[in-house]
Amino acid sequence: TKNIAVMTSGGDAPGMNANVRAIIRAAIYKGCKAYAVYEGYSGLVKGGPQFIREMHWNDVRGWLAEGGTNIGTARCMEFKERWGRLAACKNMIEAGIDALVVCGGDGSLTGADLFRAEWPSLIAELHEKGEITSQQYENHRHLNICGTVGSIDNDMSSTDATIGCYSSLARICEAIDYIDATANSHQRAFVIEVMGRHCGWLALMAGIATSADYIFIPEKPSSRKDWSDHMCQIVAAHRARGKRKTIVVVAEGAIASDLTPITCQDVRDVLVERLKLDTRITTLGHVQRGGNAVAYDRLLATLQGVAAVDAVLEGTPETPSPMISVVENKIVRKPLVEAVRLTKSVAEAINAKDFAKAISLRDSEFVE
Ligand code: ATP
Repeated sequence: TKNIAVMTSGGDAPGMNANVRAIIRAAIYKGCKAYAVYEGYSGLVKGGPQFIREMHWNDVRGWLAEGGTNIGTARCMEFKERWGRLAACKNMIEAGIDALVVCGGDGSLTGADLFRAEWPSLIAELHEKGEITSQQYENHRHLNICGTVGSIDNDMSSTDATIGCYSSLARICEAIDYIDATANSHQRAFVIEVMGRHCGWLALMAGIATSADYIFIPEKPSSRKDWSDHMCQIVAAHRARGKRKTIVVVAEGAIASDLTPITCQDVRDVLVERLKLDTRITTLGHVQRGGNAVAYDRLLATLQGVAAVDAVLEGTPETPSPMISVVENKIVRKPLVEAVRLTKSVAEAINAKDFAKAISLRDSEFVE
């Protein structure tokens, strides 16, 4: 029997609960014991029965649709330090855990991979210091890790969708539909900020799905003059055709070509000054994370949860840690390190103003 633990880490996303439920139930179904690590890596660093709890079939009843994560999530600075990971290692061994599934974003999965790579040296140190017995040392020579991607931003390379992104997209579209009614009534313009610090997926998809007039995303920066001219030309043309409202969607990480942020205030000022539109700003904020998971996220989280349990049961010290992805509608395993590396190199290319490289990295990620 294997003892499989699951944790959620980083920002919460609808569908994380469905993922945890599927992992716990698939583990039990396959004859394993299932555990939940509460409060992300900080629960692992603190350890003990308060944070590492065995979970039974009924403990996750009703979790399939629920938003957020019932086992908690946290940012944990201690886990970024070796001493924090050493404490986490000891706590896992004491709880008898031999496989870990982490549902989180790229930071969380980077941490997971580092933990696995370091594991042999961590257990050796604990053994040397006499903090674990020789038996425990022998039983835990290898740690099987698997990542599932929970993030509303859809910002991870090597997967077409992350758990939560479609729920968030649905919520944003619903909110924009509400705003549409009032915008249309008063012939107003609305500048709507949506989440996405390094990735414009939510803004782009929401903009298309609500027929927004203009969309700002981090991946397509332009100079202030260029975007002002272009946006005004488009909005004016739409108005000339009889459109009574204007919707501009701005990703929170939208940037100009000199890498200064493009804020909703900047956009509003241009619409007011140049087009004389009565313009309001709406920042959707955390409502984008809330509410039930949409059907797609429930399915993705469930299928990926089952796949994650299979992956840790089949993992060997030789196989690289997998990340469970969805590519062209199929649930597949991708090397976790490679997915994290690609995700980081897109962000680095954007930071280095090499937008062509950033876009080609995103486009090429599935060409194998
Ligand atoms: P989101 O997409 O919501 O930002 P994320 O998983 O990328 O999710 P982070 O805050 O980057 O969120 O990471 C969550 C936690 O993962 C951190 O608080 C830390 O405990 C751990 N972590 C992140 N990066 C590393 C790293 N390089 N080494 C060890 N642990 C890390």
